[in-house]
Amino acid sequence: METVTSVKDFQNFLNERRSLGEEIGFVPTMGALHDGHTSLIDASVRQKKTTVVSIFVNPLQFSDTEDLDDYPLSLEKDEETCLRHKVELLFCPTRREIYPKELPELEEIGEIGKTLEGESRPSHFQGVATVVARLFEIVGVSSAYFGEKDFQQLMVVNELVKRHQFPVEIVACPTIRQIDGLALSSRNVYLTEEQRADAPVLYRALMEGAESVRCGEKKSENLKKLISDIVINESKGDLDYVGVVDSETFTQLDSVLESGKQIRILIACNFGAARLIDNIGVVIP
Ligand code: AMP
Repeated sequence: METVTSVKDFQNFLNERRSLGEEIGFVPTMGALHDGHTSLIDASVRQKKTTVVSIFVNPLQFSDTEDLDDYPLSLEKDEETCLRHKVELLFCPTRREIYPKELPELEEIGEIGKTLEGESRPSHFQGVATVVARLFEIVGVSSAYFGEKDFQQLMVVNELVKRHQFPVEIVACPTIRQIDGLALSSRNVYLTEEQRADAPVLYRALMEGAESVRCGEKKSENLKKLISDIVINESKGDLDYVGVVDSETFTQLDSVLESGKQIRILIACNFGAARLIDNIGVVIP
């Protein structure tokens, strides 16, 4: 496996593989790779002849008060991980390669990116959409693998692909968790021992919420209260939001009436320096 830093080298490699008739699987990441990332890589390796991974900590998706400067980096370890998982090429561009202009033009985002996580982190999804658009322009025809762990991001990316008609198929992959339910995240390293013990409350609360829907709960308000109460009573986490949306359109729902409809319950909570997000899908009975 090779690591390249320039767009030109990356594109030369991709063009060569495509000229051999090989399909490209692309896994964009910010590095500090864990089993969540490798599940995306493994899915791509299973489905596509060639898998490439990018590592780029995108400054545009962090606000001034967020953890850009402390974001975990482990390039050597990440290279070994990629090699072990049969990645063919690792693309680790510099900021200049991704954003040749000092002030890159920001992507517009639709309504999906303005609620929940978008409300708490106002410029976040604009930064995500900007880097994903740039990466898709560079990579070209491919399938790109994204985690449902960041469900709202996945929806923003789907919308971006439609708007720009990028020749990229988006493949959604399930959330990988630790044995106690905590979703794997590069940010979990910020958790103290006590916070780490608290953090699985998020998945526990989401599961309780999903169960109450399956047992007939119809009101989003009740559902949100049930979940919030569990987090507040059973942890020291600082709850940011609980949201209930239609899984297809991402519109927020007041009631979950329609039988057969798939909904997503999303949660964000701060445990000290770690802002954790999670979500669960449930079908209305
Ligand atoms: P990041 O490096 O955090 O930007 O994540 C890169 C990709 O990995 C995104 O598509 C994430 O949704 C995905 N990802 C992160 N954590 C997990 C996880 N626990 N399970 C599945 N996918 C994940």
